[in-house]
Amino acid sequence: MEEKRLAPETEEKETVSRNFIQQEIDKDLAEGVYDHVQTRFPPEPNGYLHIGHAKSILLNYGLAQEYGGKFNLRFDDTNPTKEKTEFVESIIADVRWLGADFEDRLFFASNYFEQMYECAVKLIKKGKAFVCDLSAEEIREYRGDFNNPGKESPYRNRSIEENLILFEGMKDGLYKDGEKVLRAKIDMASPNINMRDPVIYRVAHMEHHNTGTKWCIYPMYDFAHPIEDAIEHITHSICTLEFEDHRPLYDWVVRECEFEQPPRQIEFAKLYLTNVVTGKRYIKKLVEDGIVDGWDDPRLVTIAALRRRGYTPESIKMFVDLVGVSKANSSVDYAMLEYCIREDLKLKKPRMMAVLDPVKLIIDNYPEGQTEELPVPNNTENPDLGERMVPFSRELYIEREDFMEEPPKKYFRLFPGNEVRLFGAYFVTCTGCEKDENGKVTAVHCTYDPETKSGSGFTGRKVKGTIHWVSAAEAVRAECRLYENIVDEEKGKLNEDGTLNLNPNSLTEVENCFVEPALGSAKAFDSFQFMRNGYFCVDCKDSTPEHLVFNRIVSLKSSFKINK
Ligand code: ATP
Ligand code: MG
Repeated sequence: MEEKRLAPETEEKETVSRNFIQQEIDKDLAEGVYDHVQTRFPPEPNGYLHIGHAKSILLNYGLAQEYGGKFNLRFDDTNPTKEKTEFVESIIADVRWLGADFEDRLFFASNYFEQMYECAVKLIKKGKAFVCDLSAEEIREYRGDFNNPGKESPYRNRSIEENLILFEGMKDGLYKDGEKVLRAKIDMASPNINMRDPVIYRVAHMEHHNTGTKWCIYPMYDFAHPIEDAIEHITHSICTLEFEDHRPLYDWVVRECEFEQPPRQIEFAKLYLTNVVTGKRYIKKLVEDGIVDGWDDPRLVTIAALRRRGYTPESIKMFVDLVGVSKANSSVDYAMLEYCIREDLKLKKPRMMAVLDPVKLIIDNYPEGQTEELPVPNNTENPDLGERMVPFSRELYIEREDFMEEPPKKYFRLFPGNEVRLFGAYFVTCTGCEKDENGKVTAVHCTYDPETKSGSGFTGRKVKGTIHWVSAAEAVRAECRLYENIVDEEKGKLNEDGTLNLNPNSLTEVENCFVEPALGSAKAFDSFQFMRNGYFCVDCKDSTPEHLVFNRIVSLKSSFKINK
């Protein structure tokens, strides 16, 4: 049976184009819950950011922009064990690169330890928190589970005065790690386990990268995070789905700590991509095991890796917008990310000639020792990019696969007797080839027709194939790195033992490519289309003027289609 459309086209568009987070914010502003919008990105500095974080950054920044609000970058560095300056610096660089402007609002949650402590004292004074001497193991046992309510701690009814003294003692270092904790006094019978008197402060005699040894008690995430948001006047605290069950606790904390205009938490589904590794733990392991060349190895989808590979902030934004936000977890096809970078680069980048698997093409009737400079359009689809001059001479390099002695049907490139166009130059007719003793082709021979020069208006006859080339004498040697996905979804991302099932062909280093001379001066992060071979970007780590290294960002063709 045919389904009937209920909503007229326009109405449908409006509701579809505003995602559920925007709808919530619209409502909050209309009802006067908030008079401004402020969002934040709160990374833990324990690794490099990846494409999933990019989604969160662009979502939060985009909302702030849309509502004329502000966006903060805040390091959630309340956990003294893992933080590293390297991660702080890389995260700042990545957020900036994505264009999410936090202006002067770069914050560290550890700077709020004093206020968090005061909040805890306030809760104790209100009879809403208590110091508990149960061990971690006992606390777990007492907590109960989904089917069984929890049991109250025997320390739950300590007096306010005793709790204040004990908590101060915790702060002053009178107790060992794990000896005492501060717990919120909520409801041990709550169906939500997060509400069963959660621990909010623990003793940990550890040095903190920012506060040093000033503190030996540290707040737990579920207590610290809402306070951090409230201190910064965040209105909409956007996080991922796994925190949905923690929302009642979030609300409890900001309410009981009596913040005005308290922030509210809204959850969305994490971004997952097929054929890549997004979990911080997995990426870390690949880096530590030396399987990849650091956190920015172009096969990874950290933001640093995507940048090194040649992805642009615009392409990542396009991708995130295409994916949209949702409440349901799902995996996005990696091909969609590739589609976005192709779309972004298509009209922006010059189309250059680079031969990845070179064989010589000798034009026997072209004058020896002569070189012409031929004007070649930089981008046939975008005349604004102008032209460049490319040297042309008697000896060129072409792709080995553009010649076949005995071609199959529908092969329109070089084979004895066939004529093709050399892009931007002349028609040439293949006359044969030279081979070594193993039968490997060492040179292809042809003749050219001077009448057919590109741009001369020649219309005498047509050819079916056009191939790219570089002039042998002027060509610049380069290395090209070709990539495949590091894991293959169809073969299974994980082995039986839980390790990653890695694709052994994820990196192919092609030495001795020849690129046209204009590419000789290419600098780190410059990117180009190499005609017929894909988009390439100068590697920022390994490329030098003496040894150019290009990363293939993406090939030219894709099976991926998007309905615009
Ligand atoms: P990972 O799962 O890779 O270890 P994380 O969630 O531990 O990442 P955080 O530094 O805690 O990393 O995350 C910072 C912010 O980024 C959080 O608000 C988190 O919800 C968000 N975030 C993390 N992963 C994703 C993802 N895959 N998609 C969207 N947002 C994400
Ligand atoms: Mg985390």
